[in-house]
Amino acid sequence: MDAYRGIPRKRLPAGARPDTLAVREGLPATPWGENAEALFLTSSFVHPDAATAAARFANEEEAFVYSRFGNPTVAMFERRLAAMEGTEACIATSSGMAAILIIVMSLLKGGDHVVCSQSVFGSTIRLFQDFAKFGIETSFVEQTDPGAWRDAMRPNTKLLFAETPSNPLTTVSDIAALAGIAHAGGALLCVDNCFCSPALQLPVRFGADLVMHSGTKYLDGQGRVVAGAVCGPRALIEQKFVPVMRSAGMCLSPFNAWVVLKGLETLAIRLRAQSERALQVARWLEQQPQVGRVWHPSLESHPQHALAMAQQDGSGGAVVSFELRAADADQARARAFALIDATEICSITANLGDTKTTITHPASTSHGRLTEAQRQAAGIGQGLIRVAVGLEDVQDIIADLQRGLPTS
Ligand SMILES: *Cc1c(COP(=O)(O)O)cnc(C)c1O
Repeated sequence: MDAYRGIPRKRLPAGARPDTLAVREGLPATPWGENAEALFLTSSFVHPDAATAAARFANEEEAFVYSRFGNPTVAMFERRLAAMEGTEACIATSSGMAAILIIVMSLLKGGDHVVCSQSVFGSTIRLFQDFAKFGIETSFVEQTDPGAWRDAMRPNTKLLFAETPSNPLTTVSDIAALAGIAHAGGALLCVDNCFCSPALQLPVRFGADLVMHSGTKYLDGQGRVVAGAVCGPRALIEQKFVPVMRSAGMCLSPFNAWVVLKGLETLAIRLRAQSERALQVARWLEQQPQVGRVWHPSLESHPQHALAMAQQDGSGGAVVSFELRAADADQARARAFALIDATEICSITANLGDTKTTITHPASTSHGRLTEAQRQAAGIGQGLIRVAVGLEDVQDIIADLQRGLPTS
């Protein structure tokens, strides 16, 4: 917001690197000269006189007017996240799901078609299915097979939506391949960058047009608030998304924006440390006879290991999933529940991206609303457990998982 008259922070040198931007990018300080970013808990902003108010409402003068469509704390979060993702602009939303909602409301209309991975977050699948009643149809395709995405393209396809790595199996989509398919068909590619965050993966480098976030996860990083964002080209955000935000109001509260903004400062060191711990947990799990498969992109056994390492800055992320061996689905579910219930440190919650390690049974929680057929398609068995590794001592996490491993 150029019209803002504060004491400028020192201007960042050109070419400041991501770790610097994560701490420094923002807006000028207020006349008080605060060092930490200010929290502007205000619903509206005051104008010096009626004529100025009129000019600001007519968009002839740039200023903060009302926090549904502009607030300095929210703007700082948007600027910082855009800088970290390498996009021109960003719009913050009240949640990750609201970010998907504003993408669809801003870019699509009845008669348009979407191609989406069948391995995305459960609520994402439900939301895209809900858009069918407004005449927006979605085809769900195999996450890892670009050919399936290409085959699903139609003349009216306007959006490709991928989440990589996926939740909970960490399967990886080839972002560059999907961007090529999208652009050849005149569509946009949006990547849900929740699992890697800009600390590990920059989807626009591989050709993605939009990057979507659940700020609830690693961006906050300490499990405190629900938040979301869409990063992309300035023209698209300003011309398509901002008008929807003004009228529909899925805005991020200034308080939540401030929490996530401060979370961005430690994002990279947290995620790198949590990813290292996750790999140690994954390697240990691979050695346990009671465990069938283990999913983590840094494992050589991961089906897209090489692609993941190239796309994710050599890092696997902090999520590990594993399948307990069992005779049938009922026994698998019982064993999974027993392991989860035996933990003394891990938090039993479907949330992730926290410094506290979380453990969940996807088939009965995050993916519980899906039909059995949809779960099968997504590869979510009853013996599957997802661990989102936090910052506790890794030996304590391993011991915690060992407690409930089946003894026979
Ligand atoms: C949690 C999550 C979402 C939804 O975000 P909310 O902030 O909970 O609305 C979307 N995508 C992925 C990958 C998620 O993990």
